[in-house]
Amino acid sequence: MPAPYALRAEESRGRRYPEEAHAYRNVFQRDRDRVVHSRAFRRLENKTQVFTGRRSDHFRNRLTHTIEVAQISRTIAAELQLNEDLVEALALVHDVGHPPFGHAGERVLNAAMQEHGDRFDHNLHALRTVEQFEHRYAEFPGLNLTFEVREGIVKHSRDYDAKDFPELAEYLLDQRPPLEAQLIDFTDEIAYSTADLDDGVEAKILTREQVRENVPLFARLHAEVEQRYPATAEKLLFNETLKRVLDRLVSDLIANSRKLIGEAGVESGEAVRRHPQRLIAFSPRVDEERRQIKEFLYQNVYYSPAQQRDKQQAEKVIAEMFAFFMKFPRLLPASYQEKSRIEPLHRIVCDYVAGMTDSYIFDQHKRFCGPKKRIGV
Ligand code: MG
Repeated sequence: MPAPYALRAEESRGRRYPEEAHAYRNVFQRDRDRVVHSRAFRRLENKTQVFTGRRSDHFRNRLTHTIEVAQISRTIAAELQLNEDLVEALALVHDVGHPPFGHAGERVLNAAMQEHGDRFDHNLHALRTVEQFEHRYAEFPGLNLTFEVREGIVKHSRDYDAKDFPELAEYLLDQRPPLEAQLIDFTDEIAYSTADLDDGVEAKILTREQVRENVPLFARLHAEVEQRYPATAEKLLFNETLKRVLDRLVSDLIANSRKLIGEAGVESGEAVRRHPQRLIAFSPRVDEERRQIKEFLYQNVYYSPAQQRDKQQAEKVIAEMFAFFMKFPRLLPASYQEKSRIEPLHRIVCDYVAGMTDSYIFDQHKRFCGPKKRIGV
């Protein structure tokens, strides 16, 4: 039974192109299903989360990360009596705007766009993807998702100022997003920060000792685990500890958000929107523990020398492909050439490159910019 502050499917502001109601799936269940059946969703399998697939089949990719986010989000949504269908749709769609090669890809595309006085933002690209680049349905372009799912794509991780983003005016930028959307930013970070510790060790970029010695929450929980399982292999102690880190973050997020929601006295989805602050948050103590994990990952994984080679290669491939299609737009697929008649070329090239998977962009790069390229730049 959803709480009064949950967003009900019947209250949805609807779709761009009105559709008849489905016999037994509500609007958010249908949105979830459309996302799962989209091409952008399937491409996540071949997009880097942090570690490239070349090192091991066991690392998270952006698809398995997305599934982890959906699982954690549903658990929390059920406990807080939020709308689980909306939460699931938002979790599954949250990363479809990511370009190849994770954050390195995002940075290079943004830099390339800035040369044209524009920018690249993965949330806004996700919105373009679901609105314009999925061609599956006879009656409308894109996935024709509900307002709330599109709003969540835009607003889950940051606030946008209507002054700088006039094209987003319809998304109630002066209001908070529903709790279901607020949740996704937190579950995203819970999922990736615990997973990156795990994959970092698996990739041998981190040692288990290093995690234990430098992440205070991990150290404390590890001491408890060691006491409980004294004669157990370190690998299993590490896993048991990591599981407890995840549990600690999730449980605190539930308890603290419940407290904030109670104190705010919000009794409807509209009251959540009008409340001056977001109401999903960690307690100050756990927020500090979360920050310490993030800081550790930045210093020892994301900016580690071991990751530099992959990053530099990613930057080169994306920058060269962007420059290539700017110079030879006639080699873009026909549908993109068509679009470049109504939007600036750099935007269309950016859309095309951002939509590529890691393996596809490598193939294209070899074909067009490699030593035996077919067409010179
Ligand atoms: Mg994510």
